[in-house]
Amino acid sequence: MKKIPFISLLLINITILQAQETRNDSLVYHPQDFFLQPFYPPAGNVYRSAEGIPGAQYWQNSSSYLIHATLNEKDTSISGDVTITYVNNSPDKLDYIWLQLDQNIFNANSRAAAATPASNDAFGILGLNNGGYHISGVSVISGGKTYPVQPVITDTRMQIRLQQPVLPKGDQISIRMNFSFAIPANGAGRFGRLYTSHGVLYQIAQWYPRMCVYDDVEGWNTLPYMGQGEFYCDYGNYDFFVTVPAEMIVYGSGDLQNAPEVLTSEDIKRLATAANSDKTVPVIQAGEIGKPSMRPASRGNLTWHFKMNNTRDVAWAACSGLVWDAAKINLPSGRKALAMSAYPPEALGDTAWSRSTEYLKNSIEIYSKNFFEYPWNHAISIGGSLSGMEYPGLIYNDYHETRAGLWFLIAHEIGHNWFPMIVGSNERKYMWQDEGFNTYINYYATDIFNKGEYVNDPVYFSKDYFASRDYKIFMTYRDPLMVVSDAMDIKQHYQYYGKTAYGLNLLRNVIVGRERFDYAFRKYTESWAFKHPTPYDFFHCINNAAGDDLNWFWKEWFFTDWKLDQAITSVKYIDNNPARGSWITLENRGRMIMPVIVKIIQADGDSAVLHLPVDIWMRDGTWTFKYASMSKIDKVILDPENVLPDMNRGNNVWMTDNR
Ligand SMILES: [Zn+2]
Repeated sequence: MKKIPFISLLLINITILQAQETRNDSLVYHPQDFFLQPFYPPAGNVYRSAEGIPGAQYWQNSSSYLIHATLNEKDTSISGDVTITYVNNSPDKLDYIWLQLDQNIFNANSRAAAATPASNDAFGILGLNNGGYHISGVSVISGGKTYPVQPVITDTRMQIRLQQPVLPKGDQISIRMNFSFAIPANGAGRFGRLYTSHGVLYQIAQWYPRMCVYDDVEGWNTLPYMGQGEFYCDYGNYDFFVTVPAEMIVYGSGDLQNAPEVLTSEDIKRLATAANSDKTVPVIQAGEIGKPSMRPASRGNLTWHFKMNNTRDVAWAACSGLVWDAAKINLPSGRKALAMSAYPPEALGDTAWSRSTEYLKNSIEIYSKNFFEYPWNHAISIGGSLSGMEYPGLIYNDYHETRAGLWFLIAHEIGHNWFPMIVGSNERKYMWQDEGFNTYINYYATDIFNKGEYVNDPVYFSKDYFASRDYKIFMTYRDPLMVVSDAMDIKQHYQYYGKTAYGLNLLRNVIVGRERFDYAFRKYTESWAFKHPTPYDFFHCINNAAGDDLNWFWKEWFFTDWKLDQAITSVKYIDNNPARGSWITLENRGRMIMPVIVKIIQADGDSAVLHLPVDIWMRDGTWTFKYASMSKIDKVILDPENVLPDMNRGNNVWMTDNR
């Protein structure tokens, strides 16, 4: 981020003092916490290379979906059928398969309900009595033969035991079933219903039974859906049909296939205008909601047909009462896409949702240019009841949000289209790998958007971002980032976002430097696009592409709750003569380590900022170095720009009177 200049290595004035003769055992810091090997067990192999990119024989299975669903307004339910085409690219034969039944979290007897403290029902899953899937007619199509199966359903998972295994390296089967479920008003903060001035807004997600991921790391990933840990899904192609009352408009992930059947020629004309416009173009304005000219039929049902390829999920919303607008997205390759927003008319306003499409378009353009080109043709921001939730090409955002809050929300939720929708990490286990990486690119985008319009917004941002915001939050936390998503203290889960983003910024701005870190981070993003990286793949990839052994950092930042406390303890002149140079002594009083940034101000007005690499802490927690002072030293300041998470700054300054 441009707020923190990278401090160049000014080692010219430093001569290294002889290694300490005795260790300082009074400190809690132990070099062996960091400089023992090996740090992490997963060595490179043919599937995941030691370089941290997919190996020569990397594989992943694919799951494609044909879905028909009907929204039943009478009992606010969804019913439909799904046919899954599953391709086994693994080297293993599969005698059984596992599916995810996310809706079963809303069953009164769900594992999540049992594990939710009565005092903190953060996902609104206690006290529901009609939630969960009703599944019927499960059959398997394999080798041209169709046979019914009795699935084994256990909480949010379903196992199908096969009559013939799915063979390795490219064999495929299909699974078909009917499903239905009651739509909760609050779907654990990830979908639900909102009663607007012009009818109900249905925000639908986790709406069809889908495959668990079978991978080379865990085999079947069958962790139950408990609320906080999000999703881990195969990639594949989606072909889906949604039937709703004719007055409603359906906003779906992907590309609408039958516009002439479900939109009027006027709607289609305005969308085409928007597709060529950098400025937001209205498609349906507030005064036009419900007008016959905007809907092709007023009675019965209409079926909307969408397709989206190479994606890990799809979602859709339906409502008759939303404002709808759109604008063109310009992608680096020259390809164009369409950004759209749909929201209740009460959210209109120049500081509010009238800017949603502009925020969406700009976020996508910035991420595409700097990280990876947006691969799909449409993206839509829906203003509704959820505080914020992401799906491929479709995001749900709180329609009450305005100003910087709305910018940040949209930049964040659409940012998830990069992490984890494009870079498909396992969110259920490693929440920081999507929330944190996304938060990192959100700050990046905020620096750039509209010449930094919201960079200094006091609510969301601050010039002193490093010092004032994130480190103070995570400084007191006790859970390391590697804690599995559902086991993290719910009040501490923000650190998945903030501490991770802060750590990446430290790597970029302080530890590695922008040139090398940006290359390495982009290498990770491109290498794992539409694939399944683990945290270790990320660590390996950055170590390799940036060319540094950062294992000390991965360990302290992701696996521990260790805190940083750097201190300056003394300044001594050689032969009591400042003109002959000074010995400056530092201590590492916390268990975390960091490079040291030290500013030295001399009485003659000369000052210098030195950057000492983390290697000074390899042997001990005390470090003395020689500084070529020319006159008396007035002041020595550690971390003068507050970029490090030093939790005790009271010992960061030495002044001449202290002697
Ligand atoms: Zn998020």
